[in-house]
Amino acid sequence: MARLTQADLASVNEKLEQRTPQELLLWAKEVFGDRVAAISAMQEAGCVISHMLHSTGVKIPVLFVDTGVNFQETLDTRDRLASEYGLEIITFHPELSMEEQTAKYGILYLTPEGQKQCCHMRKVDPLLKIIGTYDAMIGSLRRAEGGKRSMAPILQIDDEMKAVRINPLALVTDEQLHGYIAEHNVIVNPLHHQGFSTIGCNRCTTPVMPGEPKRAGRWRHLGPWSVYCGINPSDRDPSKAPYLEFPDELVDRILGRKSDFMI
Ligand code: SF4
Repeated sequence: MARLTQADLASVNEKLEQRTPQELLLWAKEVFGDRVAAISAMQEAGCVISHMLHSTGVKIPVLFVDTGVNFQETLDTRDRLASEYGLEIITFHPELSMEEQTAKYGILYLTPEGQKQCCHMRKVDPLLKIIGTYDAMIGSLRRAEGGKRSMAPILQIDDEMKAVRINPLALVTDEQLHGYIAEHNVIVNPLHHQGFSTIGCNRCTTPVMPGEPKRAGRWRHLGPWSVYCGINPSDRDPSKAPYLEFPDELVDRILGRKSDFMI
């Protein structure tokens, strides 16, 4: 086994930044084979990744966590992407229904501490149960989102999921994203047309007023300290130096030592 750190990924990240998102999806399939999946909350960037998987024909499943309190529009978007783009979308659920959770713990999402616990149980735990299934997970973070995501690298160590997080859209601007959606008539969550700039659970997401930050509609009732759910490595404590332990041969492939594919 070999240790893979964020520092090890620096030079490969520099090279991958020259590639298009579609080329990065091909690279991911080439390097990780069947041990790579995309993860999507059915927001517009995730829908763009889904369209790119469809248009390139790269067979990578899409993972979706149904928290049990998603908007119906979000579930409908998932179903449309699966049927119209022919994607394999795998849905995960929390252990407890929201009713069971509330009976046991109270209404958690009404306090900052409770929100962390609720997001962990409903969004993070269902994915933690599949640790070891995938060596890489494709996300849809973009630097243009700002905040903690403004430095999101293409490849990032996700020590919680024990996988490499791949952000093929890291360098894509808002204009480029919306241009792609318009040009390809991408299926997107219709809530984006109703004032929602980002979309999470129906308990904790509201539309955003003109001039407000994009994530102002997330956990609005809790104030500005709760703006992430903790599912993305970019949103966690940056002072940690996480690492992964992978077979030597996989580390060689990730770093391009034994294959010159795309690098
Ligand atoms: S967004 Fe709100 S309802 Fe959804 S998991 Fe987090 S705290 Fe719970």
